[in-house]
Amino acid sequence: GKINIAIDGPAGAGKSTIARMVASALSYIYVDTGAMYRAVTWYMIQHGIEPDEEQEVLQTAQNLVIQLIPGVDGQKVLVNEENVTTLIRSLAVNAKVSRYAQIEGLRTQLVSLQRQMALRKGVVMDGRDIGTTVLPDAEVKIFMTATVQERARRRYMELKDSVSITLEQLEHDIAARDHLDEQREISPLRQADDAIWMDTTEMNTLEVTEAIVSLAQR
Ligand code: C5P
Repeated sequence: GKINIAIDGPAGAGKSTIARMVASALSYIYVDTGAMYRAVTWYMIQHGIEPDEEQEVLQTAQNLVIQLIPGVDGQKVLVNEENVTTLIRSLAVNAKVSRYAQIEGLRTQLVSLQRQMALRKGVVMDGRDIGTTVLPDAEVKIFMTATVQERARRRYMELKDSVSITLEQLEHDIAARDHLDEQREISPLRQADDAIWMDTTEMNTLEVTEAIVSLAQR
C-alpha cells in the first residue's frame, strides 16, 4: 500500500527537486510546505503586516485560502485564488519567511493543513519539521543536507539569469535562514531520530531519487 515520505533539511539542499522526482516515480503527491510559509509571508508583505505583529498575522492568516495544485510543469501555489507561484520565490520573501515561521499559532494552523493533506497516504512532503512534528509516523524519513557553499551554488545557478545577486549574498542569505530555522523554539529544524541522513554535496539528483524510491518500496 501507499506510505508517506518526509524530507527535511536546510535551505537549498535539493529537497524540492528530489521530492518532486520521488513523487513522480511513485505516482505520489508532492507537498511543498515551504511554499505555504512563503505564501503567507508574501501576503503579509503585500499588506504591510510585520512578523512582530503576531495577533495581526494570525487573524489575517486564518482568512487566507492557500492551495497547492500539482501540475505537469510543477506545483502551482494560489493565495485566495491568486497565482503567486513565482512571487513567493522573491528575495524579499526569502529574507523574511523564517521570521513569520517562528510564530507558534501560524505553525499550528499550517501543520494541521499539512496533516490533512497526508491523511490518505501517498504523499512526499518536504520542509523542516515534517519527520519530527508534522508526520512523526511517516514510514520513510530523510534528512537531506549539503555544504552551505554547495547549496548557495545551486541556488545561484537557478537565480543568476533572473535576479541580480552574488554568490556571496546567497551564501549569506542561506546561512542566516538556517540559523533562524535551527534556533527557533517551536519545531526547529533538526533530524528526527529515525531519519536517514543524506549528504547530497557530491550526489546527483538521480542517485538520490533512486535511493529514496528503493527505501519506499522495501
Ligand atoms: O523550503 P523553503 O526554503 O522554501 O522554506 C522557506 C522557509 O519556510 C524556511 O526557511 C523556514 O523558515 C520555513 N519553513 C518552516 N517549516 C517548514 C517549511 C518551511 O519553518 N516545514
